[in-house]
Amino acid sequence: MSFAAVIFDFFGTLTPRTPPEVWDEHAARSAAPLGIPPRAWRAALDDSFPERAVGALGDLRRTLRTLARRCGAEPDEAALTAACEARRAAQRELFVPREDALATLDGVRDRGLRVGVLSDCTVELAESWSSLPVASRVDAAVLSCLEGRRKPDPELFATAARRLGVRPDRCLYVGDGSGDELRGAAACGMTAVMLCASDPEDGAVRARRAAWTGPFLTALSRLPSVLDDPSALTTEPRRDSPAGSGPRPG
Ligand SMILES: [Mg+2]
Repeated sequence: MSFAAVIFDFFGTLTPRTPPEVWDEHAARSAAPLGIPPRAWRAALDDSFPERAVGALGDLRRTLRTLARRCGAEPDEAALTAACEARRAAQRELFVPREDALATLDGVRDRGLRVGVLSDCTVELAESWSSLPVASRVDAAVLSCLEGRRKPDPELFATAARRLGVRPDRCLYVGDGSGDELRGAAACGMTAVMLCASDPEDGAVRARRAAWTGPFLTALSRLPSVLDDPSALTTEPRRDSPAGSGPRPG
C-alpha cells in the first residue's frame, strides 16, 4: 500500500517535547500579572486542559479570566491583558518546530503527498496557526479546540482524512503517542507510526514507548525515505528493544 497523505501530530512530533520545568516557568510568567501563586496557576492550567483542548472556555481572555476566578482572583482588565500577552509569548516558544520538521514536510510534499496536522491543542495554537512556518506546508490542520473533540476520538482522524481528500487507509499517521493518538489513528484505518526522537524522556514517555508494538521512526528526517520504501517501516529499530541498534533510554 502506498500512502497518499501523511498526518502529523504537532506537540512533541513537529515540535520537540517540552520538559516539565519549562511548563513551570511558562505558568509563572502568566501568573505574575494576575497576582496568583505560580503553583496554583500551573495547577489551574493543568486541571483545565480537558476543557481548554475542546474549546470549552472560549477565547484566551475569557479562558484566563475563568481560571483566575477558579484561583480566587478577580483580575482587572489591565492585568488580564498582561497575562494574555505573557501566555501568548510563552506559547509561541512551544510552536517552534524541530530542526528537521520543515525539511521533512517539504520532503513529503515533494513526493506528491498531502500533509495534515492533527493536534490536541488549546486556543493559543489556533490563534497563531496561520502565522507559523509549518502552516504553509500543511494542506489541512485539524485542531481539537476548534473541533470540540480530543484524541483518540475517531471522528477527529476521519475529519483529517476527509479534509485531505484521502481515504484513511492511505494515510500515514506520525505522532509521539500522547493522547492515545496511535490507537485512534489505527482504529480509523490509518497506518500509525510512533516518533521516538532523542528528546529527554520521563517515565510516561518510556511507558508509552514500551507499550507500543507498532512501527517506529527515530527521527522525522527518516520519514521521506520510508515513504519511498514503506517496507522500511517494519525494520526501524526500537530504541527500547535489547535487539535494536539504537541506544537504550536511560
Ligand atoms: Mg504529541
